[in-house]
Amino acid sequence: MTPTPYVVAEALYKSYGQVEVLTGVDLEVNAGEVVCIIGPSGSGKSTFLRCVNHLEQVNGGRLQVGGEYVGYRQNGRKLHELSPRETARRREDIGMVFQQFNLFPHMTVLQNIIEAPVRVRRIPRHEAVATARDLLAKVGLADREDAYPRQLSGGQAQRIAIARALAMKPKLMLFDEPTSALDPELVGEVLAVMKQLALDGMTMIVVTHELGFAREVADKVVFMDGGVIVESGKPHQVLGNPQTERCRSFLEKVL
Ligand code: ADP
Ligand code: MG
Repeated sequence: MTPTPYVVAEALYKSYGQVEVLTGVDLEVNAGEVVCIIGPSGSGKSTFLRCVNHLEQVNGGRLQVGGEYVGYRQNGRKLHELSPRETARRREDIGMVFQQFNLFPHMTVLQNIIEAPVRVRRIPRHEAVATARDLLAKVGLADREDAYPRQLSGGQAQRIAIARALAMKPKLMLFDEPTSALDPELVGEVLAVMKQLALDGMTMIVVTHELGFAREVADKVVFMDGGVIVESGKPHQVLGNPQTERCRSFLEKVL
């Protein structure tokens, strides 16, 4: 079976004014694949995820998600740009989980999870509640639907954030350092949920410094530095036998 590319970046370029952040990123993520992105702070990892999630305008090159262009520019000329309405529609298919969980503090766990399906997808409330309960069971928090975010541990809050993203039935999940803000003893429970999601066949791009997770779960590991992909390949290649000094010295610092 030939793999179907779900995300395709070609010579992707992104700058903020004079600050060049992505200077030619080429990356393919196939449907059902897990790609882990590693790299030093400031290398453009979050910016890349934001481009994929249609939160940033692409300044050059091409970016396709789900077989459709997000942005396409050549020689500074716009060849394709989405309307705000189209952007909003496409974003419904993409779930994103951040370092800070960003749950709505004044809503219960259940309300947090059904909010977008009911308001954005217009799913009947009872259906949204049923789905939310399934998801709560999946992330191991079936008994916390009436809790408020402040009553949760960081690990529980992040698992709820994952359930909330999944409630929109996304085709692609983006994770931006999802365990970096957690106490070490809570990291495992979040990674376990992500691993199960990967086994279920979700297409995922995960920015993480959890090299054990990358080694075990990723189909491909990408090392970014200075706005470009410096190395990419199977986990055992990039993590076990890096070809560049930049990647080697980064891995030494993380380990
Ligand atoms: P990473 O996630 O790898 O740490 P980021 O994508 O957050 O890197 O940032 C890459 C670079 O882009 C940094 O130098 C950062 O200061 C810059 N940057 C990010 N967002 C903005 C912005 N909105 N305006 C200006 N510069 C930005
Ligand atoms: Mg970042």
